[in-house]
Amino acid sequence: MMRLSLSFCLSFLFSASLYATPWEQVSGPTNNPSSSIGSYANGCLDGASPLPLNGIGYQVLRSKTKRYYGHPHTISFVEELAKQANHDLNTTLLIGDLSLARGGRFSSGHTSHQTGLDIDIWLRLADEPLSYNELQLPKPISVVDLKKYKILEHRWEDRHFEIIRSAAQNEDVARIFVHPVIKEQLCKQENASERNWLRKVRPWWGHHYHFHVRLSCPTSSANCVDQAPPPAGDGCGAELASWKPKATPPPVKKNATKIPPKPKKRKIIPSRCLPLITKR
Ligand SMILES: [Zn+2]
Repeated sequence: MMRLSLSFCLSFLFSASLYATPWEQVSGPTNNPSSSIGSYANGCLDGASPLPLNGIGYQVLRSKTKRYYGHPHTISFVEELAKQANHDLNTTLLIGDLSLARGGRFSSGHTSHQTGLDIDIWLRLADEPLSYNELQLPKPISVVDLKKYKILEHRWEDRHFEIIRSAAQNEDVARIFVHPVIKEQLCKQENASERNWLRKVRPWWGHHYHFHVRLSCPTSSANCVDQAPPPAGDGCGAELASWKPKATPPPVKKNATKIPPKPKKRKIIPSRCLPLITKR
């Protein structure tokens, strides 16, 4: 009986792949020259490189989902940052999602990561390497007390500051997304006059157990669409304060006419991406 129900559960799990996007069904990367096409949340990746599953200073999480492909710039960025973390900070970075073998849409999780230029790096530092099983089902560790909207002092380390600063100072990096509380912590901790890097670190909900690095379009990728640069300044003042949840919600006006939400525009996949899912 036990065995029966287990096999039922397994077959149910595997049937979930029926909902996979076409991008999750491709056989592997194309052999074309590397090129990121389209925008971060609507695009694809030609000639991707895999992040090697074994490297210095990093480990790849959930390798079974095969989200470890990127533009070659992305792969060298991860390898460099990891070497530095290993050498200078004596730790190992846990690397989450990059992109699929030809980029495109995931069936679960985020909508970006489509052009091989986005990388999730966990804030859990693996001073002891994780086993294969732990890597497949990793336990996230948050550095933010979400209820109190405060950094968890016992979890936050100078090494987090060092890693995020070093990533932001890399000239290939366009943006880094972190939870607003983490951005607040970085703003507080950086007392040098050199605060330019903070401009690239953008507050965004979610990112409290990992940070998300976004690289600029490589110049050789003619059909890659960059995002507008972040607003000028270090972003530590009013803009950051505006993220803080209000203590009491504003009163609801009586007889206020409800504005219906705007229908979401359907994204049209860039035409240059289509051959990547139709040709094997
Ligand atoms: Zn991400």
